[in-house]
Amino acid sequence: MQIPSPLQPSTRTLLGPGPSDAHPAVLRAMVNPLMGHLDPEFVSIMSQVQEMLRGVLKTKNKVTLPISATGMAGMECCLVNLLEPGDKVVVCAMGFFGQRMIDVAGRTGAQVTTIQAPWGKTFSLDEIRDTVSKVKPKVLGIVHAETSTGAMQPHIKEIADICHEHGALLVIDAVTSLACVEVDIDGWGVDAVYSCSQKGLGCPPGLSPISFSDRAVEVIKNRKSKVQSWYLDMTTVMSYWGQDRVYHHTGPISMIYAIHEGLRLVLEEGLENRWKRHWNNHKALKAGLEALNLHYTADASCQLPQLNAVRIPEGVDDLKGRKFLLEKFGIEVGGGLGDFKGKVWRIGLMGYNSKPSIVLLALAALEQALANQGVKVNPGAAVGAANKFYAQS
Ligand SMILES: *Cc1c(COP(=O)(O)O)cnc(C)c1O
Repeated sequence: MQIPSPLQPSTRTLLGPGPSDAHPAVLRAMVNPLMGHLDPEFVSIMSQVQEMLRGVLKTKNKVTLPISATGMAGMECCLVNLLEPGDKVVVCAMGFFGQRMIDVAGRTGAQVTTIQAPWGKTFSLDEIRDTVSKVKPKVLGIVHAETSTGAMQPHIKEIADICHEHGALLVIDAVTSLACVEVDIDGWGVDAVYSCSQKGLGCPPGLSPISFSDRAVEVIKNRKSKVQSWYLDMTTVMSYWGQDRVYHHTGPISMIYAIHEGLRLVLEEGLENRWKRHWNNHKALKAGLEALNLHYTADASCQLPQLNAVRIPEGVDDLKGRKFLLEKFGIEVGGGLGDFKGKVWRIGLMGYNSKPSIVLLALAALEQALANQGVKVNPGAAVGAANKFYAQS
């Protein structure tokens, strides 16, 4: 075997559904030397991470920590800990990730009832109330920000109220929403939430922040059967991250440094400012995409600012378009998932990348990519529309 030369990965601009670019300060935090994962100094770094995570999630939940794995592990962790074989669970699916939740919930041996919304739409409170009052589930799971369609489920607080009225726990997927749009775990009354490090938090992939309400922790403590997953069993993970600090698995030291910096930057910016920044840059991008005649897949009333999914125009090839952006500009945008495969581009403006310089670059590059495939574009119209928005905002 010829030994490869040392890596020199190309610089990209990651404007897909994640990973998004890490903040440079996060990458700098990661080059610090390793420590033992039970070193008292590292343990205090872990505590700071938990405290900052509570701040970003807006919760006082004691059980709030980053799972050592990506967002999907967070989904699995919430469901396998709260569900036992035979339990009833309702999953509300309005896209690819809701669909995954159905699969993950089903593997616990629970009885899954699903309600579906067309891709690009969200659920009404009536639909949810009807199902919950009929099924009386132990858990209801719903995706807050559906990354496959760009739709945001509104009224999470009201959904939590419905769940609690009927004795159910609410689990939300905040993988794409956290640190981009409002997430208010205690204010809304959410019982379990999971997210990830590589989208709004501006860190590399590898951690999945989770939080369980006291009510959810009681349910976990009173299980009759063992949690199916050893690694994600919160009864033991809690002892590593809780008072005891008992060895469970080796903490991913460098990733904890990364999220420490990522969370610190979010709190330093301020949650409200950060949400405002995401909305502002989204509006500029949207003005430009509209000037390019690109249409959103989600209803305007529930559009996420950080994930812009648009239909690929008639006659334009998906892969050819994305290859052009990658090779000419080093820009990655996402393709469609599931029903939207080959039909949709997903443009993410998450965390560090939600800024005017990126919006203008993306629009200029998209204009070229479309023109390259014979679409008639008005040169400069997209960038012009975005700049007009910035000038007025
Ligand atoms: C990205 C994503 C996930 C999965 O996260 P990974 O980090 O890829 O495991 C789950 N749910 C939603 C809504 C997502 O956008």
